[in-house]
Amino acid sequence: MTAKTFSPLAPPSRVLLGPGPSDVAPSVLRALSAPTVGHLDPYFLGVMDEVRAMLRVAFGTANTITMPMSGTGSAGMETLFVNLVEPGDRVLVGVNGVFGGRMAEVARRCGAEVTTVDAPWGRPLDPDDLRKATQGARFDAVAIVHAETSTGALTSLEGMRALADSCGALLLVDAVTSLGGVPIDVDTHGVDAIYSGTQKCLSCPPGLAPISLSERAMAKLKARKSKPQSWYLDLELIGSYWGSERAYHHTAPINMLYALHEALRLVIEEGLEARFARHRRHATALAAGLRAMGLELPVPEASRLPPLTLVAIPEGVEDAPVRKALLERYGLEIGGGLGDFKGRAWRIGLMGAASTPRNVMLCLTALAETLASAGYRVAGDPIAAAGAAL
Ligand SMILES: *Cc1c(COP(=O)(O)O)cnc(C)c1O
Repeated sequence: MTAKTFSPLAPPSRVLLGPGPSDVAPSVLRALSAPTVGHLDPYFLGVMDEVRAMLRVAFGTANTITMPMSGTGSAGMETLFVNLVEPGDRVLVGVNGVFGGRMAEVARRCGAEVTTVDAPWGRPLDPDDLRKATQGARFDAVAIVHAETSTGALTSLEGMRALADSCGALLLVDAVTSLGGVPIDVDTHGVDAIYSGTQKCLSCPPGLAPISLSERAMAKLKARKSKPQSWYLDLELIGSYWGSERAYHHTAPINMLYALHEALRLVIEEGLEARFARHRRHATALAAGLRAMGLELPVPEASRLPPLTLVAIPEGVEDAPVRKALLERYGLEIGGGLGDFKGRAWRIGLMGAASTPRNVMLCLTALAETLASAGYRVAGDPIAAAGAAL
């Protein structure tokens, strides 16, 4: 029997303006193809130290336990819950989209007694609602999503520390879409545990989940009555590889760490403030162009997430054919809606390396042309409106 042969891959070159992955910088792709060394090679130990140092800058923290977990953003989420939540713990989760719902589910699977505080999709969590839920109550953890990528709403971290303190809880934050795109300042906001992913505003391929834990979170971990049910995500075990012992736990994804090193290097070279301003500027220009076309942006301006813009699909226009045309004609990927917004809105990401004036203009031009051929009357001049904002 002769074996079937397979051709080498030749992936198309896309412009990734969806909810992640985002476009990867060429130097990050080059870093991926550098020679693989051993996970205890002295050279690699140096790479690990620099990755941690740069992650501390990106998160705005001096936390000792700051490192990338092997796995995507969801592995970061799971890491926090399996380590910091014990069976019977009381956990308060803010839910204003898919990822808040996922945190509640993961917490339940850890045996927590979960209370949710819900907010409408497309809105940030309401601090008053959170305050009501914590009043006179005790919780072990309060968990919120900073940047809800399923809707494009940003919940401020301001006041969250006081809220967690008022009910004796650790403060857990999902920063998958905020890291590298929106200010986080872990130490200023008193966040106890935070996780992110590499494929959103860091513009690295998916595969690692940066996390950071405060001393208070580590104390809770050390005081556990039982071991975390996940061996792979057990922070005490992994901590002894990333710590001074360098004890083998699992083989680190060497080349992904090279890529993250380069992605973080680019973040620091650009400067955090400049990078946040770039994300804001391009999101403002995109919004101006979309509005000029007569399209509606369901998230109120004050809580709009610069890396991700939610835009309502106009009456009479079908979701899937438009996204298919954008991909086939322009190599442009935008995201469909999730949950409440499925079939009703698109999600346009301008994350990391993809947040450029060129992509703003390409997206507006391609969308205007595609909508016009779908029978939608494009009202104004999106290019002029975006140009004025740029
Ligand atoms: C993308 C995302 C996740 C999940 O990350 P994966 O890398 O897909 O596992 C979690 N939370 C938020 C806010 C996200 O945007």
